[in-house]
Amino acid sequence: MPSESRMTQHLDPRSPWVISTHDLGKRPGTMRQMTLTLPAPADLGVDMIGVPKDAEVELDLRLEAVMEGVLVSGTAQAPLAGECARCLDPVSSEIEVDLQELFFYSDEDASEEDSLLDGELLDLEPTFRDAVVLALPLSPVCREDCAGLCTECGVKLAEAGDDHRHEKIDARWASLQGLITDKDNDQEK
Ligand SMILES: [Zn+2]
Ligand SMILES: [Zn+2]
Repeated sequence: MPSESRMTQHLDPRSPWVISTHDLGKRPGTMRQMTLTLPAPADLGVDMIGVPKDAEVELDLRLEAVMEGVLVSGTAQAPLAGECARCLDPVSSEIEVDLQELFFYSDEDASEEDSLLDGELLDLEPTFRDAVVLALPLSPVCREDCAGLCTECGVKLAEAGDDHRHEKIDARWASLQGLITDKDNDQEK
Protein backbone atom coordinates (compact mmCIF):
# COMPACT_ATOMS: atom_id res chain seq x y z
CA MET A 1 0.00 0.00 0.00
CA PRO A 2 1.59 3.32 -1.00
CA SER A 3 1.93 5.42 2.10
CA GLU A 4 2.37 9.10 2.44
CA SER A 5 5.99 10.11 2.44
CA ARG A 6 7.50 9.92 5.91
CA MET A 7 10.00 12.59 4.93
CA THR A 8 7.98 15.56 6.03
CA GLN A 9 11.06 17.69 6.57
CA HIS A 10 13.54 18.07 3.75
CA LEU A 11 17.22 17.72 4.48
CA ASP A 12 19.32 20.84 4.55
CA PRO A 13 22.07 20.46 1.91
CA ARG A 14 24.24 22.87 3.91
CA SER A 15 24.20 20.63 6.97
CA PRO A 16 27.66 19.01 7.22
CA TRP A 17 26.28 15.50 7.70
CA VAL A 18 24.00 15.69 4.66
CA ILE A 19 25.78 14.04 1.77
CA SER A 20 24.91 14.26 -1.91
CA THR A 21 24.71 11.07 -3.93
CA HIS A 22 24.40 12.98 -7.19
CA ASP A 23 27.57 11.44 -8.69
CA LEU A 24 26.14 7.94 -8.44
CA GLY A 25 23.31 8.79 -10.81
CA LYS A 26 21.11 5.98 -9.46
CA ARG A 27 23.04 3.47 -11.60
CA PRO A 28 23.36 0.20 -9.67
CA GLY A 29 26.97 -0.80 -9.33
CA THR A 30 28.30 2.73 -9.39
CA MET A 31 30.62 3.34 -6.50
CA ARG A 32 32.37 6.26 -4.94
CA GLN A 33 34.99 6.42 -2.20
CA MET A 34 35.23 9.49 -0.06
CA THR A 35 37.13 10.69 2.96
CA LEU A 36 35.63 13.50 4.96
CA THR A 37 36.28 15.39 8.16
CA LEU A 38 33.05 16.54 9.77
CA PRO A 39 32.24 18.36 13.01
CA ALA A 40 30.71 16.10 15.65
CA PRO A 41 27.05 16.77 16.35
CA ALA A 42 25.97 18.02 19.78
CA ASP A 43 24.88 15.76 22.64
CA LEU A 44 26.63 12.66 21.42
CA GLY A 45 27.42 10.55 24.44
CA VAL A 46 26.30 8.74 27.55
CA ASP A 47 26.68 9.74 31.22
CA MET A 48 30.42 9.41 31.65
CA ILE A 49 31.81 9.86 28.15
CA GLY A 50 31.07 11.15 24.68
CA VAL A 51 32.30 12.85 21.54
CA PRO A 52 32.75 16.58 22.20
CA LYS A 53 30.59 18.83 20.04
CA ASP A 54 32.40 20.03 16.90
CA ALA A 55 35.31 17.64 17.44
CA GLU A 56 36.77 16.40 14.18
CA VAL A 57 35.25 13.15 12.97
CA GLU A 58 37.28 11.39 10.28
CA LEU A 59 35.14 9.42 7.87
CA ASP A 60 36.28 6.91 5.32
CA LEU A 61 33.23 6.06 3.26
CA ARG A 62 32.11 4.03 0.32
CA LEU A 63 28.88 4.97 -1.40
CA GLU A 64 27.43 2.35 -3.68
CA ALA A 65 24.28 2.55 -5.77
CA VAL A 66 22.17 -0.61 -5.49
CA MET A 67 18.72 -1.37 -6.86
CA GLU A 68 16.76 -0.04 -3.89
CA GLY A 69 18.96 2.87 -2.97
CA VAL A 70 22.45 3.84 -1.85
CA LEU A 71 24.52 1.65 0.43
CA VAL A 72 26.90 3.58 2.65
CA SER A 73 29.66 1.70 4.41
CA GLY A 74 32.92 2.64 6.01
CA THR A 75 34.45 3.78 9.25
CA ALA A 76 34.34 6.85 11.44
CA GLN A 77 36.98 7.91 13.94
CA ALA A 78 36.27 10.44 16.65
CA PRO A 79 37.90 11.70 19.83
CA LEU A 80 36.26 10.92 23.16
CA ALA A 81 36.23 12.96 26.33
CA GLY A 82 34.75 12.03 29.66
CA GLU A 83 35.39 11.00 33.24
CA CYS A 84 36.95 7.91 34.74
CA ALA A 85 34.11 5.89 36.29
CA ARG A 86 36.36 4.95 39.23
CA CYS A 87 38.35 8.06 40.15
CA LEU A 88 36.47 10.80 38.20
CA ASP A 89 39.67 12.06 36.55
CA PRO A 90 39.24 13.39 33.01
CA VAL A 91 39.59 10.70 30.38
CA SER A 92 40.33 11.26 26.73
CA SER A 93 40.60 8.61 24.08
CA GLU A 94 39.41 7.77 20.63
CA ILE A 95 36.70 5.66 19.13
CA GLU A 96 36.44 3.98 15.77
CA VAL A 97 33.12 2.62 14.56
CA ASP A 98 31.94 0.80 11.47
CA LEU A 99 29.12 2.38 9.55
CA GLN A 100 26.72 0.58 7.28
CA GLU A 101 23.35 1.83 6.17
CA LEU A 102 21.16 1.37 3.15
CA PHE A 103 19.35 4.55 2.23
CA PHE A 104 16.24 3.73 0.21
CA TYR A 105 15.06 5.76 -2.77
CA SER A 106 11.45 5.17 -1.89
CA ASP A 107 9.57 4.37 1.31
CA GLU A 108 7.62 1.75 -0.66
CA ASP A 109 10.65 -0.56 -0.44
CA ALA A 110 11.61 0.43 3.07
CA SER A 111 10.31 -0.52 6.48
CA GLU A 112 9.61 1.88 9.34
CA GLU A 113 13.17 1.81 10.72
CA ASP A 114 14.92 2.15 7.39
CA SER A 115 16.60 5.33 6.24
CA LEU A 116 15.43 7.20 3.16
CA LEU A 117 17.09 9.43 0.65
CA ASP A 118 15.66 12.88 0.23
CA GLY A 119 16.08 13.24 -3.51
CA GLU A 120 19.83 12.85 -3.94
CA LEU A 121 20.63 13.69 -0.34
CA LEU A 122 21.17 11.45 2.64
CA ASP A 123 21.73 12.31 6.28
CA LEU A 124 24.55 10.30 7.80
CA GLU A 125 24.27 11.82 11.28
CA PRO A 126 21.73 9.31 12.73
CA THR A 127 23.81 6.38 11.43
CA PHE A 128 26.98 7.79 12.97
CA ARG A 129 25.20 8.66 16.21
CA ASP A 130 23.74 5.15 16.65
CA ALA A 131 27.07 3.49 15.93
CA VAL A 132 28.92 5.67 18.45
CA VAL A 133 26.38 5.29 21.25
CA LEU A 134 26.51 1.48 20.90
CA ALA A 135 30.30 1.49 20.98
CA LEU A 136 30.86 3.84 23.93
CA PRO A 137 32.31 2.24 27.05
CA LEU A 138 29.72 2.13 29.85
CA SER A 139 32.41 2.53 32.50
CA PRO A 140 35.34 4.42 31.02
CA VAL A 141 38.53 4.23 33.08
CA CYS A 142 41.60 6.46 33.06
CA ARG A 143 43.69 3.29 32.98
CA GLU A 144 42.88 -0.38 33.28
CA ASP A 145 44.25 -0.69 36.80
CA CYS A 146 42.81 2.55 38.14
CA ALA A 147 42.34 1.93 41.86
CA GLY A 148 39.52 4.46 42.11
CA LEU A 149 38.53 6.31 45.26
CA CYS A 150 38.61 5.14 48.86
CA THR A 151 35.09 4.03 49.73
CA GLU A 152 35.56 5.32 53.29
CA CYS A 153 36.91 8.81 52.77
CA GLY A 154 36.82 9.45 49.02
CA VAL A 155 40.55 10.12 48.65
CA LYS A 156 42.12 9.06 45.35
CA LEU A 157 43.86 5.76 46.13
CA ALA A 158 46.58 6.21 43.51
CA GLU A 159 47.72 9.34 45.37
CA ALA A 160 47.02 8.14 48.91
CA GLY A 161 49.54 5.29 48.65
CA ASP A 162 49.38 1.55 49.21
CA ASP A 163 49.14 1.76 52.97
CA HIS A 164 46.02 3.90 52.95
CA ARG A 165 43.40 2.16 55.03
CA HIS A 166 40.94 2.84 57.79
CA GLU A 167 40.53 0.94 61.01
CA LYS A 168 37.30 -0.91 60.49
CA ILE A 169 35.17 -0.79 63.59
CA ASP A 170 31.96 -2.71 63.71
CA ALA A 171 29.17 -0.28 64.49
CA ARG A 172 28.01 -2.48 67.37
CA TRP A 173 31.41 -2.16 69.05
CA ALA A 174 31.96 1.50 68.27
CA SER A 175 30.11 2.66 71.37
CA LEU A 176 31.95 0.16 73.54
CA GLN A 177 35.24 1.32 72.16
CA GLY A 178 34.24 4.81 73.15
CA LEU A 179 33.97 3.56 76.74
CA ILE A 180 37.36 1.91 76.61
CA THR A 181 38.99 4.98 75.13
CA ASP A 182 37.55 7.10 77.89
CA LYS A 183 39.10 4.81 80.47
CA ASP A 184 42.37 4.10 78.79
CA ASN A 185 44.39 6.92 77.32
CA ASP A 186 47.16 4.61 76.16
CA GLN A 187 44.93 3.14 73.50
CA GLU A 188 46.81 1.25 70.83
CA LYS A 189 46.83 2.59 67.35
ZN1 LIG B 1 40.68 6.55 37.20
ZN1 LIG C 1 40.25 6.54 52.94
